[in-house]
This record gives sequence, C-alpha cells and structure tokens, in this order.
Amino acid sequence: MRRVLLWMSALFVAAVLLPELGLGQLLAHAASAHPAYTLPPEKLARAEALARTRTLLYFGDALWGLAVLYLLLRTRAASTLEAWIARHAQSRAVQGLQFFALLLAIATLAGLPVDVYAHWVSLRYGISVQGWGSWLLDVAKALGLTLGIGAPVLLLFNWIVRVAPRRYWLWGWMAAVVLMVFSAFIEPLAEPIFNQYEPLQKSNPALVADLEKVVARMGTRIPPERMFLMKASVKTNGLNAYVSGLGATKRVVVWDTTAGRIPNDEILFIFGHESGHYVLHHIPKGLACGAVFLLVVFRVCAGMAGWLVRRFGARWGVQALAGRAGFVVLLLVASVASFALEPVTNAFSRHFEHEADVYGQEAIHGIVADPQRTAVAAFDDLGAAWLETPTPSPFVVFWTYSHPSIAQRADFALEYDPWANGGRGRFFVR
Ligand SMILES: [Zn+2]
Repeated sequence: MRRVLLWMSALFVAAVLLPELGLGQLLAHAASAHPAYTLPPEKLARAEALARTRTLLYFGDALWGLAVLYLLLRTRAASTLEAWIARHAQSRAVQGLQFFALLLAIATLAGLPVDVYAHWVSLRYGISVQGWGSWLLDVAKALGLTLGIGAPVLLLFNWIVRVAPRRYWLWGWMAAVVLMVFSAFIEPLAEPIFNQYEPLQKSNPALVADLEKVVARMGTRIPPERMFLMKASVKTNGLNAYVSGLGATKRVVVWDTTAGRIPNDEILFIFGHESGHYVLHHIPKGLACGAVFLLVVFRVCAGMAGWLVRRFGARWGVQALAGRAGFVVLLLVASVASFALEPVTNAFSRHFEHEADVYGQEAIHGIVADPQRTAVAAFDDLGAAWLETPTPSPFVVFWTYSHPSIAQRADFALEYDPWANGGRGRFFVR
C-alpha cells in the first residue's frame, strides 16, 4: 500500500503539478517598463501600506489559528473538556457534538480579535462600508453555520477514526471528497443567508442582453434566470462578479457595485473570465486534483498525528487519536499541512485563473470594440477598487495569491492579441 501511494504521489507531481505550478510564469514576470496597471501617487501609497497590513493579517491569522489548536493541547484544555463533557452528557454522540461545538466556538472566539482588526482596516481604507452591527450579525450567522454543520462533520470524522483505527485516513478521505462535491453544489443555497440577491434582468436588462451575446459566442447555455445581482453596496465598495454552484445550482452573480459603476464592456470581460471557469471545467478539475492531493495529505497527516500522540500524548493528556482530544491532534496536523501547502494550492488556482483570463478575453472578441483595452481597463478598475498594489512582493504572490497579481494580469491582457496577423485564439476558432 505504502509503495502504491509513493508511486501515485510521484506520478501526480510529475504529470500534473510541475507544468501546472506556473512557476515559470511567476518568475518570468519582471516588472515591465510600461506597466499596464498603475495607480495615482496618493492611492499608490495607500495601496502599498495596505499590502503590508494584508500580508501581516494573512500570516498572523493563519499562525494564530495553529497556535490556538496547539495551546488547547499543551494546556490540556482539550483533554479536560473531553473528561468534563463525558461526566455530564449521556450518549457518546451527544458528548461528541458538545465537544466539537465548544471547540469550534473557542476557535472562532479566539480568532475574533484578528477579524475585528481586519474589518477595521477595511473600513479605514474605504473598501468596506459595513457598520459594526451588521458585521457582528454576519459573524454570528457564520458561527451558527459553523456549529450547525461543522460539529456534526467533525463528529463524523472522529467516528471514522474510532471504527477504522488503521485505515481511517482512507475512509476519511472518501467522506471528505463526497463533502467537497456536496458543498460546491449547495453553496449557492447558503449565499442568501448573508446577502440579498435579485434577478439581474430586473435592474440591468441591457447588460443581460449583452451577456447573452457572450453566452452565444461561448456556445454554452446560461439562461437569464440564472443571472443574479447581489446587493453588495451595503457592505463594500469592492467590485466582483462570480460563478458558483454545480449542475442544477449553477449561477452567475454580478455585484451591484459593479453593474452600472464600470462600463458594461468590462463586465462582459469579467463575465467571460468567470464563464471560462465553467466551460474549461475548472470546478470538477479542481475537485479531482484536490481529491488526489488530499489522499496523499491525509495519509501523511495520519502518520504524523500518530507519532505526536505517542511522543506527547502523556504530556497533553491524550491517550488515543480516536478520542475527542486525540482528534484535536489530527486537526492541528491537518491545519499545519493546509497552511504549508498553500503555495501549491494557490499555484493551481493561479494557473486556472490565468486560463480564465485568456478565455475571457477571447470570449469578448468581436463583441466589444477592443478586447485588449477592455480587459486592461477592467483590471485597472478592479485594482483601484480593492486598492491592489501594482508591485506585490513575489514571495507574497507565491504563498498567498489565488490569482496572478493585477499587474501581471493587466500586462498579459495588454499584450494578448492572437487575432493579429490572422491568428486564432486558444479556445475559440474565430
Ligand atoms: Zn476567476
């Protein structure tokens, strides 16, 4: 079994990872002499200051999350909580639900100061316009969802570890894959909990008509009933449009900070990019790659967690992985792995995002007057709205960016003209 896994991971790295990493693209991008994305001096200074704060928040939040799990073990809080609940609750399942709900509540509360600071920063830079009351309500709703869904899910995985102590990582992986597909499917159904949606047709019929031209060129079918306007302006000044859901729940969403505020041509490009994710099957591809990746990660995490319990179990009051506190060891190891592997998952994501940029620019060819200028203008507007620095540190891009930087995307868009000299695009014949 071990040898099969080793071969699978080696094959996976060789066949998929290396070409997909986009490292070449990352390193090849030197700051160009005439960058397509720039900001006026005053905005530039603010964007650079914000970039530093964002980096600090990103790593601070991740490391603090790991520290909280470690401290729960080191101070024996996890094992004390397990013993205390075992004395009070009746059935094992109720004990488990209580333990994991409390664990999730503690983790959320511990992370709250970081979240408060992040929201304060966003308000100060004029990106968020959401008042503290409304923001706290969102936090409370998210906590409710975390407890209602997260606690039973953790209990399920904990149960798998108990009933299959040797091969739990394999069964746990199967459960994780099913949950991943299911959550992609139901995600759009949870979205109205946080934001209001209405048919895009209602407020922006001309935009819908233009969007349908792009849909026709793409040869797909996204009927106007699947296009929504999200009332984002009550919370943010940022621009966005996205596609979510799978199969029957698939939809296109344009924020009301975008529709009407930037030219429709630019929205067509953003829409083309988003549709590219669908047409090029990025969601199932991402899920499939994620699944293979996760199998290897689960196996390695299981080995590490077993070793930690043998080495530190006595000190942490943890007897076995199959216990509740033992499961916290697994959570800690999985969280460390997920943080350490962020550069890999983000590299995958950047590859898909770049492909979607190419697709988006080709999708509006023949519909807007100048696809290159339209795409560059869209990136300028996106970058200015989110105060994106034109010169992010390559390390920060490598570790934290799920998209290529706005500067890279705009530079590419400016140069990308496959139709010059009678050529053709990558994804469209005409
Ligand atoms: Zn995208």
